Amino acid sequence: MTALMSKATRWLWTLAGLVLVAGVGSFIYRHAPQGLSPALRLGSSYLQSALSPLVLLSAAMALVLGVASSLATSVARRAPAPMAKRPALSPLEVVNEDVAIAVREMLVELGQYLRGVASTPDPDIIVFMEALMDGAIRLGASDVHIHPLEAGTRIAFRVHGVLEEVLTFPREHHPRLINRIKVLSKLTLYKLDKPQDGHFPFSTQEGPADIRVSILPTNHGEAVALRIARTGVQLPRLAALGFPQALLDRYQQLLGLPQGVIFVAGATGSGKTTSLYAALGYIKESRGELTRIATIEDPVEFDVPLFAQTQVNAEQGFTFAQGLRSVLRQDPNVIMVGEIRDPETGRTAIQAGLSGHLILTTIHANSASGVFNRLIEMGVEPFLLASATVATISQRLVRALCPHCRAPSPISPEEVARLDSAGLASGTFYGPVGCKRCAGSGFLGRTAIYEMLVVTPAIRDAINAKVPTPRLQEIAMREGMLPLLAAGVERARTGVTTLREVFRVVGG
Ligand SMILES: [Zn+2]
Repeated sequence: MTALMSKATRWLWTLAGLVLVAGVGSFIYRHAPQGLSPALRLGSSYLQSALSPLVLLSAAMALVLGVASSLATSVARRAPAPMAKRPALSPLEVVNEDVAIAVREMLVELGQYLRGVASTPDPDIIVFMEALMDGAIRLGASDVHIHPLEAGTRIAFRVHGVLEEVLTFPREHHPRLINRIKVLSKLTLYKLDKPQDGHFPFSTQEGPADIRVSILPTNHGEAVALRIARTGVQLPRLAALGFPQALLDRYQQLLGLPQGVIFVAGATGSGKTTSLYAALGYIKESRGELTRIATIEDPVEFDVPLFAQTQVNAEQGFTFAQGLRSVLRQDPNVIMVGEIRDPETGRTAIQAGLSGHLILTTIHANSASGVFNRLIEMGVEPFLLASATVATISQRLVRALCPHCRAPSPISPEEVARLDSAGLASGTFYGPVGCKRCAGSGFLGRTAIYEMLVVTPAIRDAINAKVPTPRLQEIAMREGMLPLLAAGVERARTGVTTLREVFRVVGG
């Protein structure tokens, strides 16, 4: 539709231009000195005779239509938004049933719209890119992947950690799409065989975003990854994260402490970032506006007006440790450190946690009890670690069963054996069935499972004594920690997820 309109605009402008030329010609004929070359005189006399009232009328109409049509096209360009009536999703959304359904419906709606734009013989690439980026932001996507394959270009979004296909873009228009991205991000158009990096600003109703562009040559053409850095992102509520009530109460109590360190462990895609931001949001809400919260991140992906955010830049020598020291000079009450990767950051965070700051951070470790030995291996003093640490949390995301169609399902002998070896009772569990709401998959959204190790005097002694992780795990369980597997099995027993999902993400 828009492509058709822009074509009409072009024709109308051309017609208006021709009539203008005729008018100028006739003006020259009337007012030109007698010495004008005979050929020119003849040409303009011919033009004047053609200037009948009918031609003048159609010229005026062409001008009016041209202006109106180009105005309409520019309006269409500014607001393509096929999902304008839907509330936009936050990239930090807790993917419950409603969010899962909204994501699916929005993907279908956007895919249909984009296929419509792309399927014309001469697709309007500007409109296509606008709608694609606008849709990505409305869906709360973190990345857009444009990947050329033999049959066509696959375009997918990463939405709440999961890769979702949007459409296959016609192969023949792939170079034009890449050129549009290169123009937007001021990259070299003719360079086709070398990777290029850039960025461009993009604004939507959801506020401005910065799109980081990475172009990589492949055997089928240039592939593009677009990373979306957002401003004004809505924080998830801590209470909506799926913590069992007793654990949530305990966690909220710990977040009220004036000082100490809380570690969140989990692999990439385990929902750590969502958890940490939700915790910071809870702190701001419960302690009030005067509480100063600072973050040190690599990179800052979500710009939250409530916090002072600092981005590390390892290439330029600005590390987490340096960032943390600079931030400490500003004397915030609460600091979120994106990740502890090196001994220096570990030690600085521990010291900060012992001197009047509450530190929230993440670390790569397999379990809540595994965090301590990971830090001791890094060279953090066990005594300081034991004094500073308030709690460690380990988390995993599991697919949630569709509550509308799940059904009791027998478990396999292997599963019985695995439960048995973990000291857990077997019994009735649930499995996926499939219905309209879950699009036949039996699953709808995701939920997190958690284990939380609260540092008690007995745990402190164990850390000081540098006991191995399995021993520390036993002590923590004796002190009341429900381990990840048991926590997951509890959720599976109530039908939130399947036993298979729990075994898949927890292992063991
Ligand atoms: Zn269902």
